[in-house]
Amino acid sequence: LLQLFRPLDMLGWVYRTIRQGLIDMADMFRLIDTPVEVEDKPGAPALVVRRPVVAFEDVDFGYEADRQILHKLSFEAPAGATVALVGPSGAGKSTIGRLLFRFYDPSGGRILVDGQDISDVTQASLRAHIGIVPQDSVLFNDTLGYNIAYGWPAGGDGASAEQIEAAARDAAVLPLVELLPAGFNTEVGERGLKLSGGEKQRVAIARTLLKDPPILLLDEATSALDSRTEQDILATLKRVSANRTTIAIAHRLSTIADADIINVMDAGRIVESGSHGDLLRRDGLYAEMWNRQQNEESEEREAAE
Ligand code: ATP
Repeated sequence: LLQLFRPLDMLGWVYRTIRQGLIDMADMFRLIDTPVEVEDKPGAPALVVRRPVVAFEDVDFGYEADRQILHKLSFEAPAGATVALVGPSGAGKSTIGRLLFRFYDPSGGRILVDGQDISDVTQASLRAHIGIVPQDSVLFNDTLGYNIAYGWPAGGDGASAEQIEAAARDAAVLPLVELLPAGFNTEVGERGLKLSGGEKQRVAIARTLLKDPPILLLDEATSALDSRTEQDILATLKRVSANRTTIAIAHRLSTIADADIINVMDAGRIVESGSHGDLLRRDGLYAEMWNRQQNEESEEREAAE
């Protein structure tokens, strides 16, 4: 009988391993649809970041040769600043995130991190400096602790219990953990504890905090959290992004109104740029989007009352 079970057990293991791998890919590659192999140049050095300045210089890009998506796009994210990318669906916001993570190379122009062209350095060193907080995170079918420590340090799982707890505290996951009898050893995911969208996001924030990257890429999901959860998460993200260079891709303008610089994109170009106040005074695309969203939100509030 054992002989029969051993292969079955093995099969189960293979299944779990592959499944886990897929969840991992889904999370890390949510920004991307079809990964394309980008290769390190022979002998490429590691990225060295002293001042986490991110600059796009005249970047041209298309997923397909006959359809250009970004047109000579330039912007800078100064060290420690929060720079938002907003604009209509399909404008190219997530594409910028994918290029910064170097899932693709631009066909023209350059992307620099602290003055180094990201296509000249190793991808591993580039990605080690950038934390992604997707706003609808996928968790592994494993323990809460594993989900926070996963991938840190790069290639290992060597975070100490104290480090995990500190990250959980900063991401406001600790109150949840303290309610659970098994604490960080609680199984989450399909067969374990089901976490809400907001809780999953907090776990993703804790994972990013443990990685402690100088550059953050926040990718807001289109699906809305309820407004109280959203406010809580925003407050947490604000703490997390302090002292880090943050690029925030947003659909709801209320979430990025206090960004240092807001870049408004339309059809692969930055058409307006400035603070929330500057852009309202300009009375262009941003002001139009802002007024429309304010009206929609007040209608939703009225409908809910
Ligand atoms: P949204 O607000 O809807 O998320 P976005 O501004 O983030 O939109 P992108 O996802 O950057 O827009 O997409 C920009 C354009 O690139 C779109 O027209 C989209 O159809 C196209 N595009 C995105 N991913 C791919 C891909 N893998 N292959 C081909 N075209 C793609």
